[in-house]
Amino acid sequence: MHEHDVLVVGAGGAGLRAAIAAHEEGADVAIVTKLHPVRSHTGAAEGGINAALRDGDSWQDHAYDTMKGSDYLGDAPAIETLCQDSPEETIQLEHWGMPFSREDDGRVSQRPFGGLSFPRTTYAGAETGHHLLHTLYQQVVKRGIQVYDEWYVSRLAVTEDPDPEKRECHGIVAFDVQTGEVAGFRARKGVVLATGGPGQVFDHTTNAVSCTGDGPAMAYRAGVPMEDMEFIQFHPTTLPSTGVLISEGVRGEGGILYNDIGERFMFEHGYASNDGELASRDVVARAELTEVNEGRGVDDEYVHLDMRHLGEERIIDRLENILHLAGDFEGVDGLVEPMPVKPGQHYAMGGIETDENGETLVSGLYAVGECACVSVHGSNRLGGNALPELIVFGARAGRHAAGTDLGEAIIETGRTEDTEIGEVDTPVAPGAIHAGDTDEDAVADGGDPRGEGAGVIPEPNEVVERALEAENRRIDHLMEKDEGVQQAELRAKLQKTMTQNVNVFRTEAGLKQALRDIREVREQYQDVYVDDPSRTFNTDLQQTIEMRNLIDTAEAITLGALARDEFRGAHWRQEYQERRDEKWLKHTLLSWNDGTPELWYKPVILEGEDKTYEPKVRSY
Ligand SMILES: Cc1cc2nc3c(=O)[nH]c(=O)nc-3n(C[C@H](O)[C@H](O)[C@H](O)COP(=O)(O)OP(=O)(O)OC[C@H]3O[C@@H](n4cnc5c(N)ncnc54)[C@H](O)[C@@H]3O)c2cc1C
Repeated sequence: MHEHDVLVVGAGGAGLRAAIAAHEEGADVAIVTKLHPVRSHTGAAEGGINAALRDGDSWQDHAYDTMKGSDYLGDAPAIETLCQDSPEETIQLEHWGMPFSREDDGRVSQRPFGGLSFPRTTYAGAETGHHLLHTLYQQVVKRGIQVYDEWYVSRLAVTEDPDPEKRECHGIVAFDVQTGEVAGFRARKGVVLATGGPGQVFDHTTNAVSCTGDGPAMAYRAGVPMEDMEFIQFHPTTLPSTGVLISEGVRGEGGILYNDIGERFMFEHGYASNDGELASRDVVARAELTEVNEGRGVDDEYVHLDMRHLGEERIIDRLENILHLAGDFEGVDGLVEPMPVKPGQHYAMGGIETDENGETLVSGLYAVGECACVSVHGSNRLGGNALPELIVFGARAGRHAAGTDLGEAIIETGRTEDTEIGEVDTPVAPGAIHAGDTDEDAVADGGDPRGEGAGVIPEPNEVVERALEAENRRIDHLMEKDEGVQQAELRAKLQKTMTQNVNVFRTEAGLKQALRDIREVREQYQDVYVDDPSRTFNTDLQQTIEMRNLIDTAEAITLGALARDEFRGAHWRQEYQERRDEKWLKHTLLSWNDGTPELWYKPVILEGEDKTYEPKVRSY
């Protein structure tokens, strides 16, 4: 068994920053990651990092913009922490060598971004994430932090207790992708999940194939609530054939959106009469699809994003990467013609419920980055606010996991005596909770499903050993079958229904159809088998396990979307086209509840350090 103080699962921006912070506090920290760190999806981030760095700007203005962008569903303590700490964390990156773009006078450049009242997005060309990842990885290497690279984490080692609040996380189980060896990892102080987004739940997405919601799904099954899962961001400018992102930086630099008849529709059709193309992402995505649905789309599918007027020099200086993406993936030269764009799945605002220190309900388990919901983005994330979240909350979670006292968190996780329990009108029962795995997956990962150890609190090493045994049984079970259904077929079916029914425009009938399809896929997954019999580089096995995570994540997204009968931020419902503050100034939470998901709510915190954010009509 491997043993460390702190185990960080994931090596994107969030995981690397958490590991560095834990190491700086003196912890023996290791990173376990299914991809080499610099292949993490953070590397795809293009546009930049929001930080109030300049005279005339302030963290308070950043916080106001973020709360407004969240459509008043973000929690003020989290938003204010993000905006207060982002400048220092950004300057820290600069000191670690991040090659930010600069003005002639030597200051780091900042550009306008959607929903911001000040040009506060700091960037490194249109490759900000790439440079961020390399800068942080260099610090990890410099410090000699151990990286278990290409190890796939498939189970958390959590104690068994009927009450999730009494469970403890003592480690993880992972397999070495190269050899197939399955091993237990004990964490003496804490496990930090930093596994990124679940974009593969959809088929038109800016997210990589590695973004399969592993962290949220494992935490969910271990008893940690999922928060605000219904809020999925659809980015307005993705390339139609692949979903590859065209950064908001293009519009930030002055790029213009046109419909098929050459109208600058954001202004001409009144979608955002003040901010036009730089309205918040949810507003622009809905505007584009309305244009297409009303017959003004190009080829009935997309709109045009034009940056030619910016001139070659400026484009090459600030957006060169965009020219390559449009050329390589769509065959379009952005210097001489407009680029085709349409909305695509981009980001999950919801995720693993945490407080400002990254702690979850289960003791010893932390979550940070896109897999977590602290909640800074509420119902709609502003562009440029995810990267600061990684570094601000990554640093906090790493420090706290290492044992540093950060003070008591204001945001509370879990239920109280007054918790409001919700109900969802579902068309079908949850169905096969074991979903093709052995019985263990109905209980907390690492728990003892047979109840043999009930009432006895096992030693931490024993918890990891049990989780290891359970995982070996699951893998053997998946490998022993030699016929049935393959995960690729199920994945395509799941992605198709999610893209059709849980997209920008949502209807009750569509959401119910999605839930039926998801539960059918869950039933079929019982018959799943792994075709590749080898144990080395068995991507079939890995993707089959990821498929299980996609099912649980997709179900949580759809259940949340069905429950929330209002229009807020990125969540639009045909039957309820109004924001309903009297009913819905609250977060949606889902507990796994041994496979029969339970819905409950907790209020949004609008009280900040020295002001209360009053919900207003959101216009741009
Ligand atoms: C194309 C694109 C452009 C973007 N541009 C911007 C931008 O300009 N500004 C901004 O603020 N935000 C941007 N975002 C959002 C932002 O980049 C992401 O939200 C953020 O990078 C996610 O970082 P992360 O560390 O949480 O996860 P990731 O970077 O996705 O890293 C996840 C890590 O977890 C590991 N992992 C996952 N599952 C397992 C497992 N089971 N076992 C072991 N390891 C596992 C992976 O190997 C990886 O190392 C963009 C997003 C996309 C998709």
